[in-house]
Amino acid sequence: MFNLIIFGPPGAGKGTQAQKLAQQFNLYHFSSGEILRQEIKNNKLDKKINSYLNAGKLVPDKLIITLMREKIENQLGKVNFIFDGYPRTLKQAKMLDKIFNEKKIKPALVISLELEEEIALQRILARSKDSNRSDDVLKVIKKRLKIYKKTTAPLLKYYAQKNRLIKINGRPDINQVNEEILTKIKKRR
Ligand code: AMP
Repeated sequence: MFNLIIFGPPGAGKGTQAQKLAQQFNLYHFSSGEILRQEIKNNKLDKKINSYLNAGKLVPDKLIITLMREKIENQLGKVNFIFDGYPRTLKQAKMLDKIFNEKKIKPALVISLELEEEIALQRILARSKDSNRSDDVLKVIKKRLKIYKKTTAPLLKYYAQKNRLIKINGRPDINQVNEEILTKIKKRR
């Protein structure tokens, strides 16, 4: 059993690396942002939830935990996951650990893509030019980076204490970052 969490500020390349790793290790790419956007599009969630995404704010823990728990519990143990965008709060991290524990599955390793805020900002701005994501505008990007720093980044300490953290330099190009991840994962397995 081998599950991963990909972690890092918006703009660090989580989605891109998660896609690659999903292929390389045959993992199910679990993107909470993508799931939320789909659920809203398919009217499975109140449209009001969209206002959180548009404002760059985190969706309330209670809602997202209920939604994700259902999706994860059905699959965990049958497929191996790479979590992308989840968890983003300590409550979410604890919920994920609890599910793994209940199923007696080894906790997921955390790949942390490290990137300076200024570079992250430049990258998202560049991406926003050819993306149709309504949350990619300067004010919202800054908000997302702020929330990352305040609410999500502290999770790194939680995972480091549990000796599950793998730090990766997120600056180099996509393939180089991927190489570093592969090398470091191999050492841990
Ligand atoms: P992402 O595609 O991962 O950048 O997520 C897009 C947006 O979805 C975020 O800015 C949040 O509004 C919401 N979202 C995604 N994942 C989570 C999460 N784990 N907890 C709370 N909100 C989330």
